[in-house]
Amino acid sequence: MDCVFCKIVAKEIPANIIYQDNNVIAFPDINPLAPTHLLIIPRKHIPSLPHLAEADSSLIRDMVHIANQLAKRQGISASGYRLVINSGKQGGQGVSHLHMHLLGGRQLSSALG
Ligand code: 5GP
Ligand code: ZN
Repeated sequence: MDCVFCKIVAKEIPANIIYQDNNVIAFPDINPLAPTHLLIIPRKHIPSLPHLAEADSSLIRDMVHIANQLAKRQGISASGYRLVINSGKQGGQGVSHLHMHLLGGRQLSSALG
């Protein structure tokens, strides 16, 4: 499958994987928009939010928990951070493999769109 994040999961494309478990990996965004900009992704190829099944709810729960732990590790837990999932064309999704952005380390704009 021609999916850049599946290739990172398969180690066909290099990434500095800073967290991994059986279901999830995390690595820095190649084009960081903030001092901390990490991507938390499922190993499994889920294209976008509407493709989530009810059985994936524990996966999303785990991704949020992992993001919170990574924020703590990055020292931005107290100062604040943002978790973002873009989905679909108008949602601004560029890579069609579900991912959560963890952004922080600077004052983020309050604008959402
Ligand atoms: P989206 O716009 O789909 O929400 O976010 C996709 C993100 O993936 C972008 O912020 C982009 O910089 C990042 N990205 C795209 N290709 C790669 C890659 O090969 N390696 C890494 N580390 N990040 C990537
Ligand atoms: Zn994929």
